[in-house]
Amino acid sequence: MKLRTQLSLFSALLVSSVVAATTGGFYFNERERLTFDFQEERAAIAKKLELVSVDAIIGNDYAPLIRYVKDLKLNYPEIVWAGVHHAGEFVAHSDPEWIGKSPADQNTLKAISSLKTTEMLYDSPPDILEVVNPIRSGNARIGTARIAFSYPMVKDRFNKTLLKSMNRIMEVAIFTLIFGVIAGLLIAQNITRRLSRLVRGARSLAKGNFQEKISLAGADEIQELASEFNLMGSQLAKLYGQVHEQADTLAQANLELLELDRIKKHFFSLVSHELRSPLTTIKGYLTILLDAQGMEDWEKQERQLSIIREETERIANMVNEFMDLSRIEAGTFKIEMRPIQVEMLIEFVADRIEPEAANHNVKFSCKVDSTLKTFVGDPDRLSQVLMNLIINSLKFTSAGGEIHLDVYRIPKGRRADDIEQIGFKIKDTGKGIPREALQKIFNRYYQVEGEEKKKGLGLGLAFAKEVIERHGGTIWAESEGAGKGSTFTFIFPLKTTIETTALQS
Ligand code: ADP
Repeated sequence: MKLRTQLSLFSALLVSSVVAATTGGFYFNERERLTFDFQEERAAIAKKLELVSVDAIIGNDYAPLIRYVKDLKLNYPEIVWAGVHHAGEFVAHSDPEWIGKSPADQNTLKAISSLKTTEMLYDSPPDILEVVNPIRSGNARIGTARIAFSYPMVKDRFNKTLLKSMNRIMEVAIFTLIFGVIAGLLIAQNITRRLSRLVRGARSLAKGNFQEKISLAGADEIQELASEFNLMGSQLAKLYGQVHEQADTLAQANLELLELDRIKKHFFSLVSHELRSPLTTIKGYLTILLDAQGMEDWEKQERQLSIIREETERIANMVNEFMDLSRIEAGTFKIEMRPIQVEMLIEFVADRIEPEAANHNVKFSCKVDSTLKTFVGDPDRLSQVLMNLIINSLKFTSAGGEIHLDVYRIPKGRRADDIEQIGFKIKDTGKGIPREALQKIFNRYYQVEGEEKKKGLGLGLAFAKEVIERHGGTIWAESEGAGKGSTFTFIFPLKTTIETTALQS
């Protein structure tokens, strides 16, 4: 059974019970009140007769009393007869035949000897309800006033009066019942309507519409429940958002892992290829040298030996990169800080780069801030970083291009915690770097797609980043896009004495 039907039935039942109980109460109350009123009315008639009788008995003049008694019967149709006793006989009676006669039956004799007003009911037809009232003069009883009412008539008037009152009570009861039932139905409808909205809201919440609010007016428990649902919705929305975020992060992490896996696979094939080709070359030239008879073609053999040396250097460089990387990963990578002459560092790098640049037909230039003399850093690592960056530029800059190295001072800013810094900028006119790869190129093994033969192992920039960060600095790359060249910059705090640095590891 639906809640609405249950509530309606319950409220109708409740209202009916309350109305029935109240009506019943009213009925008994009204009956009691009417019984008392009727009794009082009869007692008042008897009392009045007593008063008239006292004068008649004391004055021994019964004619007015006899008239009064007759009038009494005429005025009150319910009175069957009325009479007054004095000294054991009727001195007045509505029926003249009874005057001078004495009452006979036991009940009457008992009643007329009582000092109280008594009512007696005879069941001899017609049923009589007799009121017996003692007549007193001072403290002395001087007679008895008796009035016989027709019990069926009294009862009939009583019932009619009761019915009239009951009709009024019933009218009110029916009105109350109708009003109560309608009010109950309306309340049940209101409750179920509000509950239905709550159910709809909860269903919508279950479907994931967390932002949809249940709007219920009022300040009752249903409204409170709706507020709790709304609160729950907001919290679920928040949680759902967090779960979504986490899922996105996981998906992103998964993509990164897949990318890393792809890069690693590519890296291993690259390594095997990078190692195999110089080894094959070395093996080939060694075989030629071993097969050669005598030293007749020394020039040729010298060229072959220098190729063997270059290829061996390539392998050694590659192994060095691996070793640096494994030291970084093992946490044993060391930076040895000492004062460095700026000029000497740049000269060292330029001496090694210039012949290479000339080979590639690329113009290499340097500019050093003349106020910069010495700074504290690891000269081997820093020259390695500079060489890596410039060789990268050489790899990706075609003949006729330019590479420029700028070493500059970044003065201390206005903020109290600002420090003086030294900056290195390597700018080339090469192929440039796509915007989305600018950050990623500093990750291990990461390489931009294309031009496979120009690439190394994808470790050079990761190594540079580690070295610069160990110097307390940062490194970044900028590029306007494909064909527009690249700029690599790294900066770190400029210290001039070894004591002031705490970066040694
Ligand atoms: P690799 O040994 O492969 O050069 P790096 O870590 O030094 O590894 O560089 C990572 C990638 O960044 C390179 O494969 C290349 O795609 C890109 N890159 C580095 N320097 C430059 C540059 N000057 N111009 C264009 N691309 C560059």
